Amino acid sequence: MQTTVPVLAPGTAEAALTEGLDAWRELPAAQQPGWPDPQVLSDVNAELASYPPLVFAGECDDLKAKVAAAARGEAFLLQGGDCAETFADVTADRIRNKIKTMLQMAVVLTYGASMPVVKVGRMAGQYAKPRSSALEVRGGVELPAYRGDAVNDYEWDPQARIPDPRRLLRAYHASSATLNLVRAFTKGGFADLRHVHEWNRGFVATAANARYEAMARDIDRAMRFMAACGGDFEGLRTVDFYSSHEALLLDYERPLTRIDSRTGLPYNVSAHFVWVGERTRQLDGAHVDLMSRVRNPIGVKLGPNTSPEDAIALVDKLDPEREPGRLTFVSRMGAGKVREALPALVKAVSAVAPDVLWICDPMHGNTFEAASGYKTRRFEDVIDEVRGFFEVHAQLGTVPGGLHVELTGDDVTECIGGSEHIDEADLASHYETLCDPRLNHQQSLEMAFLVAEMLAER
Ligand code: PEP
Ligand code: MN
Repeated sequence: MQTTVPVLAPGTAEAALTEGLDAWRELPAAQQPGWPDPQVLSDVNAELASYPPLVFAGECDDLKAKVAAAARGEAFLLQGGDCAETFADVTADRIRNKIKTMLQMAVVLTYGASMPVVKVGRMAGQYAKPRSSALEVRGGVELPAYRGDAVNDYEWDPQARIPDPRRLLRAYHASSATLNLVRAFTKGGFADLRHVHEWNRGFVATAANARYEAMARDIDRAMRFMAACGGDFEGLRTVDFYSSHEALLLDYERPLTRIDSRTGLPYNVSAHFVWVGERTRQLDGAHVDLMSRVRNPIGVKLGPNTSPEDAIALVDKLDPEREPGRLTFVSRMGAGKVREALPALVKAVSAVAPDVLWICDPMHGNTFEAASGYKTRRFEDVIDEVRGFFEVHAQLGTVPGGLHVELTGDDVTECIGGSEHIDEADLASHYETLCDPRLNHQQSLEMAFLVAEMLAER
C-alpha cells in the first residue's frame, strides 16, 4: 500500500489548486476522531485517494442547476434519509424501503407544488456523526462516544469504541454498494410513477389517513388524464436521485476530492451534495475551508444562534461569485424559534445573495429526551417548524425551497405522534436508530401530504 498521496509538479496551476485543498490541515478542525495510529491513517488516506470516484463531477453540476431552479422557486428540493447510516443496514430491503419512501413523498410534493421535486438522499455516505460530548457514560462507566460506523463501533465495549481509520475504507465500499443499488432502482423501472402512485394509494386506504384520500384521488385523475392524452410514461419510468452526506471526517473527504478532468477544478466525488453541520461551520475552521475549494453544490446548517453577520460571512467565503445553485442554507431552528430566529437571517442573506437556496430541517431543533430516556421528536413539532418556515418566507416574499428530513422506510417507533398516534410508551417497541430519531415510513408520507397542502396554498 502507498503511504503518501501523489504530489503534482510544483508551480503548475493544478498543483496550486491541489495544495489549497490541504490548507485545512493548518486550521482548527472540530469533531475529528482521535485516530490512534498515524501510520494506519496515512495508509488509509493513500488507499482512499487511489479509489475511483463515487460520483461524476458532471452530475454534481446537474444537481447544482436543479438547486438553482429550487432557489428561483421553480423546483422543490427533498433531502432525506437516516441520521446515521450503518454498515449493517446496507441491505437490499433497507435501501429499497428508503428509496420507496422518498419517491412516494416526491410524487405527493410534485403534485402539491406543481413543480419538479429534486430528490437527494441522506444516503451512500452518511456514516459519521458530530457528538455533543466526546464521552458516553453508562452506569458510571465512560467510553468514547460512538461517532458513526466510519469511525468506531456502537457496541458498548472499550475496544469497539476506539476509532479505527480502516473503517473509512468500509464506509467507501458501503457507499459504493448503496449508490449502485440506488442507481439501479431509479433507472431500472422500479421508480415508475405508476408504481409509486399505487403505493401511495395503499397509504391513504387506511382509516387513519382518510383525510389525504382526496389528494391521492386528484393525483390519480391527473395521471389518467396524462395517459388519455397519449403520454407514454417513458419519461416517467426513471428518476434522477442524488446522494449527500455531512462532510465531517476530513480524512475521508480530502482523499475523495479530485480534480475534474473536464474543467481542471476540484470536486468532492464522495457525493453529489455535501454539507457542513451546525457544529463544524466555524468561518475560520477546516471544514469551511475545504468546502470553499470544491465545486459541488454545498449546504450549511444554521441553528437559532446564527447571527445575520455569520450567515453573510459564510456566503462570502463559500459563494463569493454568487453562483446559482452553489449554496444551500439548511435552517434548523426548532418549532418554537423558527418564526423569531429565521426572518433576520433570510432578510440579510437575500439582500446580498438572492440565489442562495433555503431549505428547512425540522428535525434537529426539535429533539428531546422522553421520560423513558429515549431521544425523540414530536411529529406535530416537526410539522409546525415546516409551517413556520413557510410563513417566514411568505412574509418576506422569499422562496421556501425544500425540506431536509431524517427518515427511514421502515416501521420504526422513534418519533412520537402522527396519524398512527405513536406515544412515549411505544418508543421501546421498534427503536432502532443509533443516533437521532427518524420519521418512519407512515410519518414520512403523512409529512409529504401536509407539506403538499402548504405548497398548494402558496
Ligand atoms: C445531522 O444532520 O444529523 C446533524 C448533526 O445536524 P446539525 O449539524 O444540524 O446539528
Ligand atoms: Mn441527526
